[in-house]
Amino acid sequence: MATLECDVAIIGYGPVGATLANLLGLCGLKTVVLERESSVYHLPRAVSLDGEGMRLFQTMGLADDLLPRVQTSRNIRHVNADGKLLLLIARAGTGPEGWHNAYRFYQPELETILRTGAARYPAVDVRLRADAFAIDERRDQVQVRYENLAGGKLETVSARYVVGCDGARSTVRRFMGASLQDLRSHERWVVLDMALDQPPAGVPEAADDNGVVVDAIQYCDPSRPTTFIPMPGGRHRWEFMLMPQDDPATIAQPDSIYRLLKPWRIDPEKSRIERAVVYTFHSALATRWRRGRLLLAGDSCHQTPPFLGQGMCSGLRDAANLAWKLRDVISSRASDRLLDTYETERMEHVRAFIELAVELGGVIQTTDPEKARQRDRDLVANPTMLRPLTPPLGPGLHGDLPRPAGTRAAQPKLADGRRLDDVVGFGFALLAEKPLLDALPAELAAELSRIGITAVSADGEAQDYLRSLAVRALVIRPDRHILGAASTAAELETAIAHMPSRATFAETPTRRLTAVNS
Ligand SMILES: Cc1cc2nc3c(=O)[nH]c(=O)nc-3n(C[C@H](O)[C@H](O)[C@H](O)COP(=O)(O)OP(=O)(O)OC[C@H]3O[C@@H](n4cnc5c(N)ncnc54)[C@H](O)[C@@H]3O)c2cc1C
Repeated sequence: MATLECDVAIIGYGPVGATLANLLGLCGLKTVVLERESSVYHLPRAVSLDGEGMRLFQTMGLADDLLPRVQTSRNIRHVNADGKLLLLIARAGTGPEGWHNAYRFYQPELETILRTGAARYPAVDVRLRADAFAIDERRDQVQVRYENLAGGKLETVSARYVVGCDGARSTVRRFMGASLQDLRSHERWVVLDMALDQPPAGVPEAADDNGVVVDAIQYCDPSRPTTFIPMPGGRHRWEFMLMPQDDPATIAQPDSIYRLLKPWRIDPEKSRIERAVVYTFHSALATRWRRGRLLLAGDSCHQTPPFLGQGMCSGLRDAANLAWKLRDVISSRASDRLLDTYETERMEHVRAFIELAVELGGVIQTTDPEKARQRDRDLVANPTMLRPLTPPLGPGLHGDLPRPAGTRAAQPKLADGRRLDDVVGFGFALLAEKPLLDALPAELAAELSRIGITAVSADGEAQDYLRSLAVRALVIRPDRHILGAASTAAELETAIAHMPSRATFAETPTRRLTAVNS
C-alpha cells in the first residue's frame, strides 16, 4: 500500500487530538489522525470546561453546537465533615474571555462535537482503529507505522511533523526519549457517572434559591474524601477516594457503589450507574515536549489531579498554542525554531495548574484525623477563596517585552456588538485606539498587512479594556495571548519585531531558550 503523505500526523483522537485536528483543518494543513479505538472513550473523565476552552470552541466555529449541551458552573464548595465551608472556588459569572468562567459537560458529547467539527475539513483524514507502533524520524519527514486493526494490515504515514496526543501512556513520548517528572500526587479514586430520575437528596448546600442543585461540593471528610458534581442532562458525578479498607477490585461494582451513595439516598430503581471505574490521579510533567519533528500535547506531556478541572483544558491550550506555529513553520512564514517556544511557553504555564491542583489535593485528601482537625481550625475561621488561575506563558515568543506581554488577552465586544475573535479569526490582531491606527506611518501600516496582522479599531468595551491596561494598542496572538503592548508607533514597532515572521525572532526568543535549557 502507498505511503500516505501529510503535513502533520496526529496520534490520538481524544479531546486534545480532535481540537488540534480542527485547528489544523482551519489552517488548511493536510492532516492525518491515527486513533486506536473505534469510537470516543467510554470511561468517565472530564466534566468541566473553562471560559478559555469555550472561547477556543468559538474559534473553531463549534461554540453554538456545544452551548445547548452544557450547563454553566457556579462554585465548588469545599466543606469539612460537618459541612462547614473551608474553601470556595468561585466560578460563577462571565469572565474576561467573553464567556462564562466555567461550564459542565458530558465528555462523550463534547468529543463527538469535536469529531463532527473535524469532518468539515477535507484536508483532515481521520483513521480509526489505527494503532501507531513505530516512529522513524528522518531529516525532512517522519514515518509513522501503524496497524490497521480493522483489516490487520501494517500501513505507513509520512508527515513533516508528528504530534503525540496519545494520552498518559504515550507511545510518541517514549519514542522521543522524554521521561516524566513526578509531581508527587498519585491517589486512587473511584469515579462514577450516574443518571438520576430525580435530583439527589442531602445536598441543600449545593442548591440555589429554587432548590436546584447547582454547586459542586468537595467533601473534605477524612474518613472518605468525596466529590459531587451536578452535570447536564440529569447526570451526576461522584468521586470517592479509596481508603485502606477498600478492595479496588470490587469497589466499582453496583453493591459497593450504592453503599457509597447512601448519604444521598439514591434509589437504585430510579437511577442508573452509567460508568464507574477506579483511577489513579497522577501529577506529572514530561521533561521535554519536542524533539525535532516530534511533539507532544495533552495528557501525553502533562497529567494533573482533577481538583481544578484543568487536565483537558490545559491540553486544549497546547493545541491552540501549537496549531498556528505549525501553520507558520510549514508555510515557511517562520523558522522551525518557533516550535521550541511551544514547549517553553506551555510547560511553565501548565506547571502552575498542576502545582495548585496538588496543593489543593493536599487539603482535600487529608485522611489523618488530627491533621484534618488542624486544617478545619485554620480554614473554618477564615475560608479561602480561589479565583480562576491565569498564569503568564513561560519564556517564548514575547522575549523580553514587559507585561502584559505573555499574559492572556481578554475578548471585549466591539461597538457594533461583535466579539473581537469573530473579527480576527485564528490570526494575529492589532487592537488599537483609532487615533493611533490613523497616525501609523504608511510603512508600518503596510508591514502589518504584509505579515498578516488584522488591525481592529478599539471602540466600546475594547477601548475600556485598553485603558484598564494603561496602553493604546495590543498585538494579540492567534491563541489569544498578548505578544506585546504599545502606546506609541515606536513601541508598536518593537512589539511587531517579535512576530514569528520577522527576522528578530531568530534572535530574541532563542537567546531566552538557551538560558532556560542550560
Ligand atoms: C476523573 C477525571 C476527571 C477529570 N475532570 C476533568 C475536568 O473536569 N476538566 C478537565 O479539563 N480535565 C479533566 N480531566 C482530565 C481529562 O479527562 C484529560 O486531561 C483529557 O481527557 C486528556 O485528553 P487527551 O486527548 O490528551 O488524551 P486521551 O483523552 O487520553 O486521548 C488519547 C487518545 O490516544 C489514543 N491512543 C493512544 N495510543 C495510541 C496509539 N499508539 N495509536 C493510536 N491511538 C492511540 C487513545 O485511544 C485515546 O483515544 C479529568 C480526568 C479524570 C480521570
